[in-house]
Amino acid sequence: MADKFDVIVIGAGPGGYVAAIRAAQLGLKTACVEKWVNKEGKTVHGGTCLNVGCIPSKALLETSHKFVEARDHYNEIGIEVGEPTPNVAKMHEFKEQVIAKNVGGISALFKANGVTALEGSGKVLSSKQVEVTGHDGEKATYEADNIVIASGSVPVEIPPTPLTEGLIVNSTGALEFEEVPKRLGVIGAGVIGLELGSVWNRLGSEVTMLEAMDTFLPMVDKDIAKETQKLLKKQGLDIRLGTRVTGSEIKDNEVVVKYADAEGEKEITFDKLIVCVGRRPYTEALLGEDAGVNLDERGFIFVDDQCRTSVPGVYAIGDCVRGQMLAHKASEEGMMVADIIAGHKAEMNYDAIPCVIYTSPEVAWVGMTEQDAKAAGIEVKTGSFPFSANGRALANNAAEGSAKVIADAETDRILGMHIVSQHAGELIAQGVIAMEFGSSAEDIALTCYAHPSTSEAIHEAALAVDGHAIHMANRKKRK
Ligand code: FAD
Ligand code: AMP
Repeated sequence: MADKFDVIVIGAGPGGYVAAIRAAQLGLKTACVEKWVNKEGKTVHGGTCLNVGCIPSKALLETSHKFVEARDHYNEIGIEVGEPTPNVAKMHEFKEQVIAKNVGGISALFKANGVTALEGSGKVLSSKQVEVTGHDGEKATYEADNIVIASGSVPVEIPPTPLTEGLIVNSTGALEFEEVPKRLGVIGAGVIGLELGSVWNRLGSEVTMLEAMDTFLPMVDKDIAKETQKLLKKQGLDIRLGTRVTGSEIKDNEVVVKYADAEGEKEITFDKLIVCVGRRPYTEALLGEDAGVNLDERGFIFVDDQCRTSVPGVYAIGDCVRGQMLAHKASEEGMMVADIIAGHKAEMNYDAIPCVIYTSPEVAWVGMTEQDAKAAGIEVKTGSFPFSANGRALANNAAEGSAKVIADAETDRILGMHIVSQHAGELIAQGVIAMEFGSSAEDIALTCYAHPSTSEAIHEAALAVDGHAIHMANRKKRK
């Protein structure tokens, strides 16, 4: 038997690495097992998020956005740059540098905090033992008082469109296109599909998005989703709702996709196809036969509200358990579990987790939509404010979108905030903090905001809940 630890974490994504660092900070002897190997054959930390998810996608979204700014908008504000051309190889180089800095940072944090990094694949055995199979096939077994499983998720594949090297790809392949595809298909107009579709649309692809559902972004407030759909359409994203992909064929290095919509069966041909139909929990080779850790009916590791599995002392967090598949949700669960292991009281507020789609403008929300609240029988009052009436947004030449605050009609407590705008992903933190503190719309309305700032649109939306926005024709007389 090799070393014994207080905590062994399996997986070093944003769930696992945060759990490991927090556990070590709390004085627990901690190890973290990671099997991810990069293109150079080196074990890297950071998981999906840093290697093929949040971070590389944001690098490409930022570079492609800057390209569009230079191509379409600099001349509007008095900067003549001629006709810019995208250098895709250089963009990937930048993206790789960003990944390297991030993953290197996690390894350095492990060292600084005294987390033992174990390289290889971890398997939970009975009696809280973890077997680690190194990249050379060597096995070692470690004992732990507590185990935290943070094995993450992988992209869902669907039978109509099996992945085909370089032609039909998942999100990871879509971050690697060496050239801008002329005709690009995207299956799924969810968060990841919209972001990757936007990247390549900005760089020149004709992008067609095939989405089975009839509703666009059903988790977003209807007013904000409708405005987003209009704005993305204006950018050239051809989003086809009620369109279910039923098959595909590779012909002459092209992808012929079969789909069904309200009018019947149809076909469309692409140069590349991205399959973005969601992610599933990853638990392969993770649990020994007598580990005793149960999965639920959808393959997620079954946990309670505080991420305890069916085995005492074994916890699971992040994408491999129920809840939203988001990096920050995984990290918060990681901190909660480390605190619980160290004997502290800890819990998560699953009602105040922000979600962001990093399109341009960004879409960000927290809490209920107006429709959710009404469906739950809650009487609401809402306030909306357009960024076209915000001085800073106009000065930024980015005045598209609006912010909406949803509050309980009786108590004025904020139930949700939904925004589409430049930097909505930053602005939404105000809604999260407000909800976390149980604020009313009036609390925001009575707060002094810096001028000029795009945050003032949130202030105005909160004022508008009672019909008293300043920079908008008022609906009600002030009492
Ligand atoms: P992961 O990040 O998947 O990490 C799990 C780790 O466990 C991996 O490193 C894996 O190698 C390792 N592992 C698994 N099994 C074993 C084993 N048996 N032994 C050893 N190691 C193992 N989320 C956001 O919040 N914001 C975004 O902007 C965002 N953008 C995204 C963009 C894309 C293209 C994708 C694909 C995802 C995006 N996500 C985003 C989702 C986000 O990446 C995930 O929610 C997050 O990474 C989940 O963290 P995790 O720690 O649970 O799992
Ligand atoms: P998300 O869960 O946000 O990643 O989004 C995935 C999207 O893919 C969902 O909106 C699904 O409706 C959509 N989807 C899944 N299967 C298909 C299919 N066969 N054809 C078109 N869209 C699909």
